[in-house]
Amino acid sequence: MIPDFTTSSLSDLFSLQGRNAVVTGGAQGIGSQTVRRLSELGARVIVADIDDVSAEATALAIDATHPLGTSGNVLSAKVDVTDTTAVAAVADLCCSMWGSLDIWINNAGIFPTTGPAIDADDAFFQHLLAVNVGGTFAGAREAARRMERGVIVNVASTTSFRAAPGISAYVTSKHAVLGLTRSLALEFGPRDIRVVGVAPGPIDTPGVQDQLAPLKAAGLDVSAHMSRTPLGRAGQPDDIARVIAFLTTDMAAWINGDVIVIDAGSHAG
Ligand code: NAD
Repeated sequence: MIPDFTTSSLSDLFSLQGRNAVVTGGAQGIGSQTVRRLSELGARVIVADIDDVSAEATALAIDATHPLGTSGNVLSAKVDVTDTTAVAAVADLCCSMWGSLDIWINNAGIFPTTGPAIDADDAFFQHLLAVNVGGTFAGAREAARRMERGVIVNVASTTSFRAAPGISAYVTSKHAVLGLTRSLALEFGPRDIRVVGVAPGPIDTPGVQDQLAPLKAAGLDVSAHMSRTPLGRAGQPDDIARVIAFLTTDMAAWINGDVIVIDAGSHAG
C-alpha cells in the first residue's frame, strides 16, 4: 500500500535517489530532457532508443553531471519499442545492473503526417499503432512484471482528447494511450504501481522541427507559429520533462490514472 507521506520532508518526497528508470525514446526531445530531470533528482536511468548512436551520446553527456558523482548511472540501450523481446531485455538490464526497476517512461512515439485517411495505407496505419500503442503497452507490461512498487508515465498528447483532420492514425494512437493509462492504473494500482500520463501540446523538439521542415521551406515562420500559445512562447521539452519528473516522485503519490494536459492553456479556449 502506498504510505502516507504527511510527515515526510519535501526534499525527501522529491528525491529519486535509489530509484532506477527506463526512458524510451530518450535520445532526444522530450525523452532526453526527461532523462536529464530524472537524473538530476538522483535516479539511475537507461536511455532506450531505436537510435543507439544518439542514445549513447545523450547518456554519456547526462552521466557526466549525475549527482551521484560516479560514472555509469546513465546508460543507453538500443531498443525498438515494437520489438517486445528488446523491451523485456532492457527491463531485465535495469534490474540486473541496479537491482530494481522503479520508473518506466513510455515516451517513444512517431508522428508522421497521415494526410487524408481516404488515401492512407494499412501498413502506415499499423506501423504507427505498433510504435505508439503497442510500444506503450509492451513497456508498461514488461515494467509492471518487474516492479515491486513503481510509476509508469505514458506520453500521450492533447490529441488524446481532441481530433484534427489529416492525422487520424496519430489521433487514434494517442486516444488509445489515454485508455491504456486509465485501464492499467486500475489494474496495477493494487500492486503499488501508479500509471499516469502527460498530454503535451506542440513542443519544439527535433521531431516536430523535422515535421515542420516542408512548411518552413514554403515560408512558414515556425517559431512565430509555435509561439501562438496563451503564454506567448513555444513549448519546450523541459516544460514536459519537469511534469513527468514530478509525477514519478512521491510528491505525486496519490495521482493515478490521470493524463495531465500541458499546453500553456491552449485547450482552455
Ligand atoms: P522526437 O521525434 O524529437 O524524439 C522521439 C525519440 O523517439 C527519438 O529519439 C526516436 O529515435 C525515438 N523513437 C522513435 N521510434 C522509436 C521506436 N520504435 N523505438 C524506440 N525509440 C523510438 O519526438 P518528441 O517530439 O520528443 O516526442 C516524444 C513523445 O511526445 C512522442 O510520444 C510524441 O508523440 C509525444 N508528443 C510530442 C509532442 C510535440 O509537439 N513534440 C506533442 C504531443 C505529444
